[in-house]
Formats: sequence, C-alpha cells, structure tokens
Amino acid sequence: MNKDYRAGFVSIVGKPNVGKSTLMNKLLGEKLSIISPKPQTTRQQIKGIISDEKRQIILMDTPGFVEARYTLHTKMLEYINNSLNDSDIVIFMTDAKKFPTDYDKQVCSNLQKLSVPKIALLNKIDLSNEVTVKQKLELLKEYDFEKILPISVLKTLDFSSFLEELTEMLPLSPPFYSTDEISDLPLRFFVQEIIREQIFLMYDEEIPYASTVVVEQYHDLSNKVVIAANIWLEKKSQKPIVIGKNGSKIKKLRITAEKEIHKIVEKRVKLDLWIKIKPNWRKKPNALKEFGYR
Ligand code: GDP
Ligand code: MG
Repeated sequence: MNKDYRAGFVSIVGKPNVGKSTLMNKLLGEKLSIISPKPQTTRQQIKGIISDEKRQIILMDTPGFVEARYTLHTKMLEYINNSLNDSDIVIFMTDAKKFPTDYDKQVCSNLQKLSVPKIALLNKIDLSNEVTVKQKLELLKEYDFEKILPISVLKTLDFSSFLEELTEMLPLSPPFYSTDEISDLPLRFFVQEIIREQIFLMYDEEIPYASTVVVEQYHDLSNKVVIAANIWLEKKSQKPIVIGKNGSKIKKLRITAEKEIHKIVEKRVKLDLWIKIKPNWRKKPNALKEFGYR
C-alpha cells in the first residue's frame, strides 16, 4: 500500500437547501451513493465512498442539524458534536446569498468547539455578485475554518481540485474499506438503517439515541438472505427495555425489520438480533469507526 495514502470520514453539515445533496451526488457520480428511506432517524450515515489509488473519502451526513432546525437544544448539540467529533473533517456548507442566517451563526460558533479540522463551503456563488461573495468570505473568517472555499456546486464540472483540498486535510491512513466491501456496503447499511429506523419508531427517547446497529453477517443465499446484527446499547439497564416482556418487543422489532428488508431484497429474510452493551460508547472517541466501519 502507498505510504502517502490518505483516508478518513468527512461530515457535511448545513441548512436544508444549501446544496449538500447536490455536492454529494456530484462527488460520487451517483453510483455509490446510498439511499436511505428516512435519514432523519439516523445519527450519521455513510452517503458514499470515493476511493482511488491516492485516497479514500467516506462521506457522511448529519441529519441532526436539520432536525434541530432553528432551536438547537443543548442536548441536541451535544449529540451532534459527539458524532461530528468522530469525523476527520467537517464541511460546513452555506448559501452565499443567505449567509449568515441565525442558524448559520449558531452552527458556526458551535463548530468552533470541535477539535476536528473544518472547511466552510460558500455555495451558490453563481447567484451572487463578486462584492457580495467577497463580503461573505470575510464574514466566514471570523470563525476558525481551516479553509474557506467559494463554490458553485451546480456549475462546477470538475471537482478534482476540491477533492485535492479535501485529501490534503485527511490523515495518512490505509483505506477503511476494500473495493469488495464497497460493493456490499449499500445493502449492509440499508439493513442497518432499517433496523435503526424501527428502533426509533418502537422505543422512547432514550433508547434510539443510546443505540447503534452493526450488521455482522450478511449472507445472500439463493432462496433467502441471512443476516446477523448487533444492537449496541450504553447501559445494562437498557437491555430489558429493548427486549420487552418475554422478549415481545425485540421480537416485534425483528419481524418488522425482516418485512422491511424483504421489500428491498425480495427474498425470504432471516434476521438475528443480538444485544450488546458498551458502557458510554457514545462518549468514546472513534466509537463509530470501532463499531460500524471496519
Ligand atoms: P440540501 O438540502 O442541502 O441537500 O440541498 P440540495 O442539494 O437539495 O439543493 C437545493 C437546491 O439548490 C437544488 O435545487 C439545487 O439544484 C440548488 N443548488 C445547489 N447548488 C447550487 C449552486 O451552486 N447554484 C445554484 N444556483 N443552485 C444550486
Ligand atoms: Mg439534501
């Protein structure tokens, strides 16, 4: 492996409509992007992976900022920060014309507390004049972004220089995924997201935020798909809540998830769910990497 290889996790945050999806789709050329039914129910999800002989960039998004809208509660912020701290780079994206909204200001100052390198992307510069763009770039300098890049995601055809800028900021590291694994990833993550979604629907507040799902096995057989997944919780006391009386809750979770997965894979689905405890996993640096992304 190339000793100059760089790899890492890149989170993109910003208000709805600033161009996050457009950017991701352009970067990924669509084919590797993972579509998930209800992104707002997830902590952080992989949108896709850009992988070549020089770098592996794993793109994530953080729906929390969208969910929180204009009232970013302390608890919500803490939760978002925890997941952002697991990234190697955070990209803050904003609309050149509208920046700085109250929301932008709040997010920007909140991002200052992170120890992660940050990039500000001032998007949609095609809709503003030069003076405005300059002025907005000055305003962004008030925050400690490592790079501030004006861009029009819509009008840009070649993203190679942008990818270079990103790569420079990534740590030297071997890739997290092999090419084989990448082709398998969309389904694994899909399953993960489906189970998580059901957890969000079935349990009260504490459990969804304290849990994460990792698909340990995914076997695509001729007549069925056999899946084993771990549900990681933070505390022992959460285990009986998830299991329910005589196992009723987890059974319901399993059956509903099997049905949802069946709709995608169009085969019989056998899902095994296991509950695991890792005290305070959310507060542990790199917990996400440790769990999901091996
Ligand atoms: P998201 O909500 O942050 O994911 O934003 P989207 O990627 O869905 O983009 C919202 C809208 O802005 C879409 O209609 C895009 O086509 C448009 N958009 C994105 N980037 C640009 C840009 O650079 N210039 C212009 N004019 N429109 C853009
Ligand atoms: Mg979007």
